[in-house]
Amino acid sequence: MAGRCGQAPWRLTQAINYSVGIDASTLAPAMPVPTAPANGASGATPASDERIAGQLPVLHERITGWFAETARKLPWREPDCSPWGILVSEVMLQQTPVVRVLPVWQDWLERWPTPAALAREPAGEAVRHWGRLGYPRRALRLHAAAAAIVSEHGGQVPGTYTGLLDLPGVGSYTAAAVAAFAFGRREAVVDTNIRRVHARLMSGVALPAPSLSAAEMRLAAELLPDDDGTSVRWNAAVMELGALVCTARAPKCAACPVQDSCAWLAAGEPPPSYTPKGQAWHGTDRQVRGALMAVLRLADSPVPAEMFQQEPADLGFAADGIGVPLSALHRLNCAPEQLERALAGLLDDGLAELRQGGYRLPS
Ligand code: SF4
Repeated sequence: MAGRCGQAPWRLTQAINYSVGIDASTLAPAMPVPTAPANGASGATPASDERIAGQLPVLHERITGWFAETARKLPWREPDCSPWGILVSEVMLQQTPVVRVLPVWQDWLERWPTPAALAREPAGEAVRHWGRLGYPRRALRLHAAAAAIVSEHGGQVPGTYTGLLDLPGVGSYTAAAVAAFAFGRREAVVDTNIRRVHARLMSGVALPAPSLSAAEMRLAAELLPDDDGTSVRWNAAVMELGALVCTARAPKCAACPVQDSCAWLAAGEPPPSYTPKGQAWHGTDRQVRGALMAVLRLADSPVPAEMFQQEPADLGFAADGIGVPLSALHRLNCAPEQLERALAGLLDDGLAELRQGGYRLPS
């Protein structure tokens, strides 16, 4: 990836290498296990400063040691990946599995190896090449961020949390993650996987609260190693532990490097105090929007609204090219009001525009 990514000022892979070889069996003996909150609440409550301070060295050593030995090899973790490549990966990975992100990330970095390359293109091209990753407003946000990086930062991704947070469409999670993983800064990175590990390991509950709380941010800050390099490895390692071992539905506790310190195991694996809402898909406006976007991505001219409602065969389209997404849309058999609502939503969100009596990707 060297040619695509350029040089990152900070190298995660190198940092991983010098902590390889830690054997959990040679580390400190089992630590006192914290007790779960008596009320069974699902929010991650910070434990006492003393308890956390007492456990930290062993937790850091075991989890970063486990990461050094088992981390997945991913292109955005390569030492030569640029801050731009890392920013793109962090936005794509939100609510999207690695396996779906990989081909799209690779395509994006080949097309647009720098923010300037993306900023030169119409926003619609970013949406077109977002493919089926879902939540395509993220493509617009990355395009807007690329434009700001060019106009306000000389084409270089800003290297501080606040500089990143000032970019359009970059929120606190992405700013912290890029500051940490691209620039080696000590930032508390808190994503879904990290929240789940913290909730189980430290607070003894099966799931974190439905939304991120200030208490969780304080806990994450308390757990963060003092030195910059270790803090970055810690962030990456806890995130990986949540993705591979401490998974949402079936944690693999037997393979966990800190199972003898886990408050949730010690509490007898209490069930979650709420049922996470699944993301409905079939029959929703989101599904219709996705089907419409699939048509627009393939269209090389504006698509009149009537086309979305007719059988592709009736329109003279073969069962390939744009006929494929048109057929998929037609099979949804959605009501005309839902179609209109979905099209209006795409216009409102800037994902489509009306030109020459038809819909197309934004210019
Ligand atoms: S022991 Fe199980 S629940 Fe606890 S942190 Fe490890 S994987 Fe998660």
